[in-house]
Amino acid sequence: MQKKEIDWANLGFGYIVTDQRFVANYKDGAWDAGHLTADPNVTMNECAGVLQYAQTVFEGMKAYTTVNGQIVTFRPDLNAKRMVDSAKRLEMPAFPEERFLEAVTETVRANAAYVPPYGSGASLYIRPYMFGINPVIGVKPADEYQFRVFTTPVGPYFKGGVKPLTIRVSDFDRAAPHGTGHIKAGLNYAMSLHAIVSAHAAGYDENLYLDSATRTKVEETGGANFIFVTKDHKVVTPHSDTILPSITRRSLMYVAEHYLGLEVEERDVYLDEVKDFAECGLCGTAAVISPVGKIVDHGEEICFPSGMEKMGEITKKLYDTLTGIQMGQIEAPKGWIHVIE
Ligand SMILES: *Cc1c(COP(=O)(O)O)cnc(C)c1O
Repeated sequence: MQKKEIDWANLGFGYIVTDQRFVANYKDGAWDAGHLTADPNVTMNECAGVLQYAQTVFEGMKAYTTVNGQIVTFRPDLNAKRMVDSAKRLEMPAFPEERFLEAVTETVRANAAYVPPYGSGASLYIRPYMFGINPVIGVKPADEYQFRVFTTPVGPYFKGGVKPLTIRVSDFDRAAPHGTGHIKAGLNYAMSLHAIVSAHAAGYDENLYLDSATRTKVEETGGANFIFVTKDHKVVTPHSDTILPSITRRSLMYVAEHYLGLEVEERDVYLDEVKDFAECGLCGTAAVISPVGKIVDHGEEICFPSGMEKMGEITKKLYDTLTGIQMGQIEAPKGWIHVIE
């Protein structure tokens, strides 16, 4: 297969239309068989549920080429399951997990020419999502839904080298107790836009959100979970019902314990203790792990000993091991790598 003429190494993170996308429709209580289409546009009624009451959930994952030349995705079964959980919380019909995997596979296969070659650092970003599509004006769940998967090639995250982030403790909250912080829904992002735009305007890369009940515990940023490393190399991640269960974070904690032999802890992490950690990273599909150099709490700076130039020692080991597993250079735990072709 002939790859597209794309300057993979210099791609950013933006939407580039690809050849095919998957569409399935839910009507009269059932999902249809679905199909691929070349049409990137969605047509819907002006009163569609998603447009009026934001009934929509999504996933984010990547396809990439391994050292053996295979096109693979990483733990897509967990994305399938998480999307079912997200859909249920918003009173949407689940898209069956098996069918999710088939739809992702079919869409990536149809766009294989856009999957960047091994070693480019780039990948094919995959966006499964679903939304209420029939007219809804009285507040209630839609009756009809559309599930779609599109792909877009994205560049290496650490283009131009690793630059540890500076983040601020936000005065805004991301998620309420018993709210929707644990699901992957556009609504959580819509309300974070003001916080991120104002953080950028003030010179920060990201917001650290605290638990909104007590404002004493670390939760996450707008789109990534935290991992901290103690001075004696214990890997700690916040436990909370209101953070989004990142698949990258869960995988990194497994790698820390089973590949690196480190002690791991998922527990309450208080803002007051953050100054005692040696390293801090943000984890998500986009970067795997992005080092944090500094956290600013209303003028008070917490500077991690790992500094503003490079990844901390343990952060780097975690990054190298997980990316090695993803790229087929290090043996993966069973079921982690899903071969597409
Ligand atoms: C998607 C997302 C993450 C990262 O999850 P991954 O499964 O690792 O990509 C973290 N936090 C939020 C709020 C997210 O939406």
